[in-house]
Order: sequence, then structure tokens, then C-alpha cells
Amino acid sequence: MAVGVLALQGSFNEHIAALRRLGVKGVEIRKPEQLQSVNSLIIPGGESTTMAKLAEYHNLFPALREFVKMGKPVWGTCAGLIFLANKAIGQKTGGQELIGGLDCTVHRNFFGSQIQSFEAELPVPQIAAIEGGPPTFRGVFIRAPAILEVGPEVEVLADITITSNKTVDPNSTLESQEESTGSVEKVIVGVKQGNLLGTAFHPELTADTRWHSYFLKMGEVGEGDSSSICAVEEEL
Ligand code: GLN
Repeated sequence: MAVGVLALQGSFNEHIAALRRLGVKGVEIRKPEQLQSVNSLIIPGGESTTMAKLAEYHNLFPALREFVKMGKPVWGTCAGLIFLANKAIGQKTGGQELIGGLDCTVHRNFFGSQIQSFEAELPVPQIAAIEGGPPTFRGVFIRAPAILEVGPEVEVLADITITSNKTVDPNSTLESQEESTGSVEKVIVGVKQGNLLGTAFHPELTADTRWHSYFLKMGEVGEGDSSSICAVEEEL
């Protein structure tokens, strides 16, 4: 079945292209009723407040929350991760509406502003286990968020070691000093909770489709593919 890609704003075309490279059709989602035609959803990177405003305008929040509640696979990349989180901090002003469901607290611009964007090699065992790629994954971090706290059901897939106040410069972030977490050495940048996946970086901006493959596999398990379920059980 086709994979939905929330197409309000941001890197939705890049996700659809990555899915195409894997022989999977990505369907642009802009209206609540379009969610009925897909069994899984990718929320792209972009700008999470803009995305939230557009989702509100198109009356998408109830349908998106229902989609998550039904246990269908949903993957948020960067702004999409923020959108999926239960709590986001680091806004310049006020709160912003979130879909929620992913039990974590996300700092919206943890690594600083646009000019602090960077790339890093991430060792992720679950991704390295997928055939046809190198042992690490090239993480593209663009004005990237980080996951500050996770709930008990959240599995950490990827983290990144930061040298204190080097990658994270409190003076150059948009946020106040007290929200800065410059003393943290390892920050979480990839999580999974049941059928929800969140990455602070942008796999859709690389030629490496292994995160997309990983997400598609989650969908197979969700749809009751018994061979995948057995494989997961054997690993436990
Ligand atoms: N920090 C951005 C936000 O708050 C997300 C950046 C991105 O998606 N590349 O929405």
C-alpha cells in the first residue's frame, strides 16, 4: 500500500523520491480524508510552527491524532519529529500545537540556528543491519531539534556526542540561556515507540534509503506480517 507523506510544507518531495527509489508510491496528504487511503505516514522536515498553522488551517489535527492512536506507522523527520512529540520547548514565543503521541520532550532548535547546521556519521545498529550500506549513516542536521527526555516506552535508536558548548552554542540559539543544555554530552537524535519513529536529522536529503526501508518494515509488522513479527520475536 502507498505511504502517505504530509505535504503541507518542507521536504515532502524528497521523501516521495526516496520511497520511489525503493519502488514504493508516496502519496501527498493535504486533507483529512486523504489519510484514509494510506496505512502509514511520513511527516517531513521543514518548519514546525508553519506546519502546525497549515495543519490547523486544513483541519488536519483530529485526523492526524486518530491516525497515530490507531497505531499506524508514523515517522517524523526533524520538524516532523517536533510535530509528533508530546512536548516541545525552545519556541521563541508561546506554545504551538503538536500532534503528540511520541512520549518525549523535544528542543526545537537544540543545535542552534541555520548556520549551526551540520552533518555527522551516526552509528545506528538497526540501520547498519540493513544490507547494502556502510556501518554508519550520514545524518544531515538542519536547524535541528534534539530529544531531551524520553518516556519508558521509547527506544533510543540514535544519539550524538557533542563537545560541550562547541556544537551547541547557547549564545547563538534563538532560545534563552536557561533552556540551553550545553552541558549534555550525548543527545538523543533518533527514537522509536511502537509504530512511531522520530529522527532529528533528514534521511530524505541523502541518497541512503535505509531509514526509509526501516520504516517500511515497521509498517509490515503493523499490518500483521507474521514473518516479520517472528523475526522481531526471535531477536528478543
Ligand atoms: N527547528 C525547526 C523547527 O522548529 C525544524 C528544522 C528542520 O526541519 N530542518 O521546525
